[in-house]
Amino acid sequence: MIDFRSDTVTLPTKDMLAYMQQAPIGDDVFGEDPSINALEAKTAAIFGMEAGLFCPSGTMTNQIAIKTHTQSGDEVICDELSHIYQYEGGGIASNSGCSVKLLQGNRGRITAQQVLAAINPDDVHKPISKLVSLENTSNRGGGACYDLQEVAAIQKVAKTHGLSLHLDGARLFNAIVHKKEDPTQYGKLFDSISLCLSKGLGAPVGSVLVGSTPFIKKARRWRKVFGGGMRQAGSLAAAGIYALDHHVQRLSEDHAKALLIKEALLKKDFVEEVFEVETNIVIAKIQGKFNATSLAAELKQKGILVIAMSPTLVRFVLHLDINEEMTHQTIKTIHAL
Ligand SMILES: *Cc1c(COP(=O)(O)O)cnc(C)c1O
Repeated sequence: MIDFRSDTVTLPTKDMLAYMQQAPIGDDVFGEDPSINALEAKTAAIFGMEAGLFCPSGTMTNQIAIKTHTQSGDEVICDELSHIYQYEGGGIASNSGCSVKLLQGNRGRITAQQVLAAINPDDVHKPISKLVSLENTSNRGGGACYDLQEVAAIQKVAKTHGLSLHLDGARLFNAIVHKKEDPTQYGKLFDSISLCLSKGLGAPVGSVLVGSTPFIKKARRWRKVFGGGMRQAGSLAAAGIYALDHHVQRLSEDHAKALLIKEALLKKDFVEEVFEVETNIVIAKIQGKFNATSLAAELKQKGILVIAMSPTLVRFVLHLDINEEMTHQTIKTIHAL
C-alpha cells in the first residue's frame, strides 16, 4: 500500500532507531532525562526561544499552551479550520473553559484586520479576548503558508490589545523550508510555538512546546496535570533530535512530489480543482464520475490510500515513506482512472 493518508504514518528509519537505542535516559518528571533535556534545549534554540517542553502529542502541546495563556471565561481567536478547534475534541472548552471566536480566513490563514475586528471591547457582556492562535502550515487549508509580514501585523495587534499569540506549528518546518525562512523570526513573533516531531519529520511520537522560561515553567505544571509527565522517554526524544538533524531540509523533496501529484490530478476531468500546493499536502475537489469517497475506494483497490475529507475533497499527504517510485506509480494509476 502507498499510504498518502497522513504524514503521521511514517516509521522510524534504521538510523533513527539506532540513534534512539543509544540515547541516555532518566526520569523526566525529576528533570533527569538527558535526551529530553537536550531535545527541549535544542528546539528552543532553533527558534531563539528560552525553553522547551516535550509532550506526547501536538494536541497536548496546543492544549497546554491554551491553558497556560488563558483563564476560564476568556476567549481564543482563531481560524474556523484550526486544528485546535476542529480536531482536539473540544479541548479549548473542556480543558480551559474558554469560548472561541472563529474567523473565516483564506485557506486557514487569518489577517491582522480580522483579528483586530474580533477583539472584544472591555464590556461585562463579552468574554475577555485573551489569545490569538495561528496555524502554519494550515492542515485543512491544504498546507498553506502564512506570509511573515501578516504574522508580524497580527502580532502587533495582539500586543497592542494585551493578547498572547500562539502558533500551532505542527508543520512549521514545511513552511520554513518552503519559504526559506529563519526559524528565529517565528521565535520573535510568538509567545509560544507547538511543533510536531511525528508529522513530516518522521519521528514516531512527540511534540515540543517552546516559549519563555516562565511560560514553560507554568506549562510544565499543566503537563503533569494533563497526565503528560513521562518518565524514561528519552529514546522518543532522541528520535526527535535525530529528525531535527536529518529530516528538515529533505521536506522540500516531499513538496516537489506533491506538485507532481497535483499535475497528474489536474489532467483528469473528474478533478474540478486542486488547491494551490505550497508544501506536502494536496487537496483535490472531485466532480463527475467520482465523489471523494468513491475515488478513495477506487484508489484503495489499486493499492493507494488517501483520505476523503468531505463529500467532495480528497487529500494526499507526502512524507518520508513515499519515495520517487511510489510517486510515479501513483501518477500512473491516476492517469489510468
Ligand atoms: C497533527 C496536528 C496536530 C497535533 O496532532 P497530534 O496527533 O495530537 O500529535 C496539531 N495541529 C495540526 C495542524 C496538526 O496537523
